[in-house]
Amino acid sequence: MTHYTDERLRCMVCGRSKYESSVLVTTETGIVICDRCIEMFHTRIREESPEEAATPAIDFQLLKPAEIKRRLDEYVIGQEDAKRILSVAVYNHYKRIRHQAGDHHQSLPRRLREVDIQKSNILLVGPTGTGKTYLAQTLARIIDVPFAIADATSITEAGYVGEDVENIILKLYANSEHNVERTQVGIVYIDEIDKVARKSADNPSITRDVSGEGVQQALLKILEGTIANVPPQGGRKHPDQAYIAIDTTNILFICGGAFEGLGDVVGQRLLEANLGFRSTPVAKSTREATRKLKQTDHGDLVKYGFIPELIGRLPVLATLDELGEEELVRILTEPRNALVKQYQALLAMDGIELEFTNAALHAIAQGALSKGTGARGLKTLIERTMLEPMYEGPSRTGSRRLVIDAGHVTGNEPVEFSASIRESRTQTDEPEYLEEAG
Ligand code: ADP
Repeated sequence: MTHYTDERLRCMVCGRSKYESSVLVTTETGIVICDRCIEMFHTRIREESPEEAATPAIDFQLLKPAEIKRRLDEYVIGQEDAKRILSVAVYNHYKRIRHQAGDHHQSLPRRLREVDIQKSNILLVGPTGTGKTYLAQTLARIIDVPFAIADATSITEAGYVGEDVENIILKLYANSEHNVERTQVGIVYIDEIDKVARKSADNPSITRDVSGEGVQQALLKILEGTIANVPPQGGRKHPDQAYIAIDTTNILFICGGAFEGLGDVVGQRLLEANLGFRSTPVAKSTREATRKLKQTDHGDLVKYGFIPELIGRLPVLATLDELGEEELVRILTEPRNALVKQYQALLAMDGIELEFTNAALHAIAQGALSKGTGARGLKTLIERTMLEPMYEGPSRTGSRRLVIDAGHVTGNEPVEFSASIRESRTQTDEPEYLEEAG
């Protein structure tokens, strides 16, 4: 092509010349088209097939329920029922998203291809520190989707007109490294959902919360699916700012709470069903209360103070058990990132061997139990026990072994280093530490 013919090239759609457009594409068949027209065609295609544009990118691990449960077992101790229920619910949720995107359609009978599978958000009921947040977080990690935590009590009625509720989605968006497609298939954990229940005669343990119903309405909106407009840079909304529209339809919401007093609501119903009306049955022990909670139905939650629409959007219900001493000991030692393993790794970096006696582990578990904050208490106790040796250990030159016993946990005995097993075999010039080794 000569320079002369080049100058005469024009876009066959808009007629712009090579000099009026930055790129002019020519095909082997002689078609010439400019960049602006290509862009215009792209836009037209997107506008004319909205369903296709709205289909979320499938960017997650679709694991079978048994595989999800097996992976949860590596992190979460006990809570067998909840883990099974969650594994099935999470599998179904992500399978549903694939179904929407048209996957598996070929293997389905024609009459089932168009079935609209409803989203099933999850409600977790269980005392503080039993692993509700941890389960939700671990699930997100296993499926490899972004995760965000929000607190129901921080949502105000303003959320109803779209303020605070959008901040929850903003967090998820930030945790997805600002990827809209990934945000739209993420998991949000909403803590303390029980605190936004209305006060009712059936639920006297809840302090009056006038905004309860407004907050529930706001939550309902994002749970059932809405377009949340989030400011791309985060922070406060500004009228001139361009927002990013995020569809919450495929976001999985897991709501959790301790639901104090719910066991009594359930107990009352069971009693009325079996024996006719009697006095309010108050659970005598926490175990008994948990047993009752396992029989919770949606009617009980409405009685507790939830609007039926919101409960209707949380069809999967799992109850977590109170953790006992043995389970707390297992939590300290067994999970992949168990606290004991974390401290052992930290000290090993300074060349220090760390061991906990069985009695020490039980002392920590008992201490946590007496606090009544479940596994949450473990961290505080172990942190307190380890403070001194963590402070001293790194600058030590002599003894490199540390055995933590019950007396160290209760604070009755000071923590002391001793010669490591290896050292005690090879070095005999450190009597002061060897003495302490026994
Ligand atoms: P909740 O949300 O029920 O109040 P969390 O999930 O926040 O409790 O638990 C606090 C911490 O305790 C978690 O981060 C986790 O390290 C530990 N934990 C709680 N329950 C379990 C459990 N069943 N198995 C293993 N670790 C647990």
